[in-house]
Amino acid sequence: MKHNRKDGKSVKKYYKYQQIHRVVDGVKKKRCRRCSKWKAESMYYKRRRNKDGLYVWCKECANKATNKSRKQRLLAARKQEGI
Ligand SMILES: [Zn+2]
Repeated sequence: MKHNRKDGKSVKKYYKYQQIHRVVDGVKKKRCRRCSKWKAESMYYKRRRNKDGLYVWCKECANKATNKSRKQRLLAARKQEGI
């Protein structure tokens, strides 16, 4: 077996399904990639493109992220309009 690892830090981390999905007391839970908290699947927005049909971030994190980008977009638009 060949093992050519230099430092291992540059390797991108991919989570396996089992690592971010869990069933606790009959409730399907998923780990948010942003805040690393375990939350019920209902706490995630749906995204058909993803393997499990859910966002990798919980609603809370997704909202924070979109609010931020919306603000930035608004600011950028304002600048363009010269207000
Ligand atoms: Zn989160």
